[in-house]
Amino acid sequence: MYKIAIVGAGPAGYFTAQAFQNAQTEDLTFAIDMIERLPTPWGLVRSGVAPDHPKIRTVSKVFEKIAKTEGFRLFANVELGKDVSLKDLRERYDAVVLATGSPKGRKLGIPGEELTNCISAAEFVPWYNAHPDYANIEVDLDTDTAIVIGAGNVAMDVARLLAIDPTELDLTDIAEHALVKFKQSKIRKVIICGRRGAEHAAFTAPELRDLPKLKDTNVFIDKEQISQATYRIKERGEVEKDLRNNLEAMRLIAEHEKKEVERNLEIKFLVAPIQINGGTKVKEIVFTINEVKDGKVIATDKTFTIKAGLVVTAIGYDAVKYPGINIENGRIANIAGHVEHNVYVTGWAKRGPIGIIGTNKSDSNDVVELIISNLTEPKVSEGISSLLKSGHEVIDQISWEKINASEVISGAIAGKPRVKEVDWRRLINLGRS
Ligand code: NAP
Repeated sequence: MYKIAIVGAGPAGYFTAQAFQNAQTEDLTFAIDMIERLPTPWGLVRSGVAPDHPKIRTVSKVFEKIAKTEGFRLFANVELGKDVSLKDLRERYDAVVLATGSPKGRKLGIPGEELTNCISAAEFVPWYNAHPDYANIEVDLDTDTAIVIGAGNVAMDVARLLAIDPTELDLTDIAEHALVKFKQSKIRKVIICGRRGAEHAAFTAPELRDLPKLKDTNVFIDKEQISQATYRIKERGEVEKDLRNNLEAMRLIAEHEKKEVERNLEIKFLVAPIQINGGTKVKEIVFTINEVKDGKVIATDKTFTIKAGLVVTAIGYDAVKYPGINIENGRIANIAGHVEHNVYVTGWAKRGPIGIIGTNKSDSNDVVELIISNLTEPKVSEGISSLLKSGHEVIDQISWEKINASEVISGAIAGKPRVKEVDWRRLINLGRS
């Protein structure tokens, strides 16, 4: 039996475990230990997916099935680089798979980015999703206008949550502290700012199509920007289906009849932030107007300013470094998932922060195929337990199921899918009870 350590209990980690389970035969068997820094598993399915999109979270049922399969063990509340080293794992396991994601928000690199209330989506999203590390970040919604930088699905999630009537979140599993803040929010206008044209936006059509359905929020896109983008891509020749669908969804938003409501969400294209002004706190953002010339996006000499008290940057993520690995272009340096010796990488840490949850499945299948082709004699070694200090409080699958049940029961009383516990210590106590 081969011993496999998977570091990171998010979608990429679970799909890796599943690929090993599916590859088992009578002669080829695997003991899988999944190691997770947080006291809770599921990664972005718990702390990334927008609370008003509960269907996306149902993949957690698949994760639980994988976790209940023989040969799988969960070691949550165990941190790589602190509680166990990569070197130790490498020595004891036949293969170590890093599925540690890309938790670090990229920086704009413009003056004023350090001002209070300029927040990365890498903090804002886990804040509203009850991630214990972000429960106490400072978020001030006492402003009428918020700017979200980036034209991807994370920007859209953030903007939507800021723009909708918070009563729509009452029956979701949003963090209680965030729901309280959203209810007190004075924000009535949210502007998503993409630096390139509508044809370059990274939104996906299903997410765009949901926008006109918002009950209490009008969504605006300048029809002219969509017409010009459509013209530009037609000039280029054949247009891919996804892009056609995106532009069509944006056209429908632009033409959608507006409601008598006070909440607004706007998507602006070809605007790049160059400076954020304020004393200590964000007050206004200066943008350059860009244009598309010969297929290239270039800055004009025109600028404009928007007064806004909150900026959220949703411009992508980078992987974090662990002793013994290198980062290249924001990813763990690898060749087709191979890092070095018996260390591998999968998911966002491997390919960068692109793709939906399901993308991790094919990615992990490929990495597992590669690992299996490289396996030699199974190691005879002690597993992870002997590496942990005595008294270390591991959250195993049984403890996690207790936490899960407790959150779901609290949720049922409140008519929600769950009420998430945000405090690390209380999570561990729930796992013990
Ligand atoms: P993304 O899709 O890569 O979008 C990032 C956006 O940030 C792009 O519009 C990019 O513009 C912009 N950007 C990057 N650097 C910038 C800068 N310096 N200044 C201004 N804008 C900048 O990333 P994401 O939104 O973080 O999403 C990550 C992945 O998760 C995506 O694959 C996404 O589809 C997925 N996701 C899916 C869902 C869902 O299915 N519901 C929800 C959330 C996330 P350029 O193109 O010009 O670089």
